[in-house]
Amino acid sequence: SLSIGIVGLPNVGKSTLFNALTKNDVLAANYPFATIEPNVGVVGLPDERLDKLASLFESQKVIPAPVSFVDIAGLVRGASKGQGRGNAFLANIRDASAICQVVRAFSDPNVVHVDGKVSPKDDIETINTELILADLQTLEKAIPRLEKEAKLKKDRAGVAAAAKAAAELLNGGTTLYAGAAAAGIEVDELRELHLLTAKPFLYVFNVDEEELANEEFLASLRELVAPAEAVFMDAKIESELIDLPEEEARELLESIGQTEPGLNQLIRVGFRTLGLQTYLTAGPKEARAWTVPIGATAPEAAGVIHSDFQRGFIKAEIVSFDDLTAAGSMSAAKAAGKVRMEGKDYVMQDGDVVEFRFNV
Ligand code: GDP
Repeated sequence: SLSIGIVGLPNVGKSTLFNALTKNDVLAANYPFATIEPNVGVVGLPDERLDKLASLFESQKVIPAPVSFVDIAGLVRGASKGQGRGNAFLANIRDASAICQVVRAFSDPNVVHVDGKVSPKDDIETINTELILADLQTLEKAIPRLEKEAKLKKDRAGVAAAAKAAAELLNGGTTLYAGAAAAGIEVDELRELHLLTAKPFLYVFNVDEEELANEEFLASLRELVAPAEAVFMDAKIESELIDLPEEEARELLESIGQTEPGLNQLIRVGFRTLGLQTYLTAGPKEARAWTVPIGATAPEAAGVIHSDFQRGFIKAEIVSFDDLTAAGSMSAAKAAGKVRMEGKDYVMQDGDVVEFRFNV
C-alpha cells in the first residue's frame, strides 16, 4: 500500500512526531492479520462523516481508512555520498510514495541544531540537495544507456530526452516535483528510474506553541514550500495530547488556539498528497471508509473490499454523504430520488455511500 516517508535532519522532532502518530495506530485494532515493521505507523484518516453514518445505521463500530507513515531515519548532510546510513536510507525513501519533511522552526536553546542555527529555509535546502544529488547519480548512470536505447528504438527517445532535461533542472538546484511541469518535463516518462525528487512532497513545520497563532510567521513558512502543502504543529504538545483524556486534550488545544490536533491535519494532507480519496459503507456491523485512487471506477472500488466484488460486479447503489444526511435515512434518501444505480463506468466521488451488487 502507499506510504508517506518521514524525513528530516537530526533533532528536528521526527521521533517525537512519529511516536505520537503511532500511538494512534489503527492497525492493531482493525487489521489484526497485517504484519508491521517497527518504523511503520498505520493511522486512521480522521473523518467525522463516519460517526454520523454510524449513528444513522446504528453501526457497532467505525473503521477509518488507514494511512501509512514510515520513519526514514538517517538523512544527514552527505547521505547521497554514503554519510550516515547513506544507501540504506535511500533504499527506504525509494519505497515511499510521498515525502514528508519535518522542519525545525522551534527555538528551544536546549535542543542542539546540527548546523548550529534554526533556519527552516537552510534545512529544506540541505535535504533537497541530498535528494537532488541522489537523483543526479541515478540519471548520470542511466543517460548513456538510455541514449543507446533511443538510437535503436524510436519509442525510447522520449525517456532519454526527459532524463537529460531532468538532469539539467536538478543541476540548477530545483526538485522535479517543484520544477518539472514548468520546465515541460514529462515525469511519467521517467517512472522506471524511481527518482526521489519526482515524488510528491509535503512539509511539517515543528513550531513553538506561541508561533501557532502567528499567522504572518506561518505564511512565511508556507511560502517557502509552495506549491507543496505545509502543516504546522508543536510536536512536543502533540505527544502530550495523545496521552490525555478527550476533554483535557480539547482544553489544551483551546489554550493554544487550535481546534484539532496537528496530527489530524497531517494525516489528511498526507492522504491527499498521495492522490487518494475514500468512499463509505455502512450497516449494523460497521461504518467504514475505503481507500481508492482519485479517478477509480465503481468496479475498481468494489475490488478494494474483495476481488470477488470486482469480478462479479453488477452495479453500485450510491448516495452522496451530504444527500443521505440531509434526507436523514437511507429510505428517505431513496424516496427523495437521491439514491442512484451506477454501472461499471461510474467514476467514484469522495464521500459516496455505497452498496455493491455482485454475482458470486
Ligand atoms: P529527531 O532526531 O528528529 O527524531 O528529533 P527528536 O524527536 O528526537 O527531538 C529532538 C529533541 O527535540 C528532543 O529532546 C525533543 O524532546 C525535542 N523536541 C521535539 N519537538 C519539540 C518541540 O516542538 N519543541 C521543543 N521545545 N522541543 C522539541
